[in-house]
Amino acid sequence: MKKITVAKFGGTSVADFHAMSNCASVIKGNNDTRLAVISACSGVTNLLVELANGVQQEPTRQNRLEKLTAIHHEVLAQLPENAAVKSAVDALLDDVATLADAAATSPSTKLTDALVASGELLSTHIFTHLLNTQGIPAVRFDARTVLRTDSQFGKALPQIDETSALALEKLRPLCEEKIVVTQGFIGGDSEGNTTTLGRGGSDYSAALLAEALQADVLEIWTDVPGIYTTDPRVAPNAKPISEISFSEASEMANFGAKILHPSTLLPAMRREIPVFVGSSKAPEQGGTWIRKTAEKSPLLRALALRSNQTMVTLNSLNMFHAYGFLAEVFNILAKHKISVDLISTSEVSVSLTLDQTDTGGGAPTLPDAALEELSTLCTVKVEHGLSLVALIGNHMGETRGTASRIFGAMDNFNVRLICSGASNHNMCFLVDEEDSKPVIRALHESLFE
Ligand code: ADP
Ligand code: ASP
Ligand code: MG
Repeated sequence: MKKITVAKFGGTSVADFHAMSNCASVIKGNNDTRLAVISACSGVTNLLVELANGVQQEPTRQNRLEKLTAIHHEVLAQLPENAAVKSAVDALLDDVATLADAAATSPSTKLTDALVASGELLSTHIFTHLLNTQGIPAVRFDARTVLRTDSQFGKALPQIDETSALALEKLRPLCEEKIVVTQGFIGGDSEGNTTTLGRGGSDYSAALLAEALQADVLEIWTDVPGIYTTDPRVAPNAKPISEISFSEASEMANFGAKILHPSTLLPAMRREIPVFVGSSKAPEQGGTWIRKTAEKSPLLRALALRSNQTMVTLNSLNMFHAYGFLAEVFNILAKHKISVDLISTSEVSVSLTLDQTDTGGGAPTLPDAALEELSTLCTVKVEHGLSLVALIGNHMGETRGTASRIFGAMDNFNVRLICSGASNHNMCFLVDEEDSKPVIRALHESLFE
């Protein structure tokens, strides 16, 4: 085989028959495309997460199941010779109903993964059939047979070496014959349980499979024509970026730019696979190339926003000129498997934010046991309703006047925590959730327009 392009299509790209047909055209337009990694149809994962969290009322549960059925049956109705696919889809919908009943009585992260994985299992059945009916010979492949993860349900960690070996053995030969359609977001642990990589994880799946197959290009097809200077839905004057470096784009993804799952670029960076981001609705508009190095490296590149932040502030006079206090705090956090995102310290207090949670969703919380243990050391304050704003760029710490430009634009807002200096590529701050979009717009207007 000469070249392999792995193409990932997100939820809105496979939302309905029309959107799926656009994806088929994208695949037809590039002979190198051998693997299509597909998300669940738009809205489906949200419905499944709701069911997985345990819907008590039977009529509400029924209503969610009907919505799921309608989304998939609507596409099927527009496909010829659909009997076999329809029975596969209906069998999966029956499984969803059974699992949703179980989740209503005893929800668990393992059950959540089994349930939410159905979205991608359903969409890939339909999309494979759609490709075949449009004259593109395609075969459906169960990603769980190659995308090996650990058993951390809801946010499973991929096992890179095993995934690579399995993909080369089982997936690559298939890619030589036909276009292979597989699920994003889902994997399998060594015991055969279904796992998920966390919300938005299909991007990451596609990158992991591109790495495993030693692909030449990874394409992320979504609902915007590339990466912009900030989310164009938040700041309508956001500008498209034609080329960006791996490190800049991964900072953006890490700091919440929803266009890419935070881990997407790690596998691409390991194998130096160029990544293209474009719109499946309007591929002719071009998009963004993400490469090892970009021709330009501007001082200010982009703004990212991550909502649902939890800030924990620890205060103790014992911290003053003492040693070992932070070590004790972090020992407790590690013991309770709490991952810390940002940290800012002063003489007698330390503020930190907690890392995002798993597929089940919601703001991260400090477990009661951890709170109790920390309270023996210091006073603990937990705050929700905050958003993280990140400015991404190059040589920011070495360039005079950067901070005054940034904070000058934030005159009208209250900044809760600032992290700057540790990296030359970003500066970030916490603001109240209701200020987050106005802050992005004010910063974008002042720094990028
Ligand atoms: P998909 O379902 O295809 O994975 P997502 O909704 O996860 O799509 O990601 C695409 C969305 O990301 C866009 O609709 C846009 O609102 C948002 N987004 C956030 N930051 C950016 C950015 N910097 N550039 C472009 N889109 C962004
Ligand atoms: N369907 C999953 C989600 O909505 C994964 C993805 O679309 O990337 O989070
Ligand atoms: Mg996404």
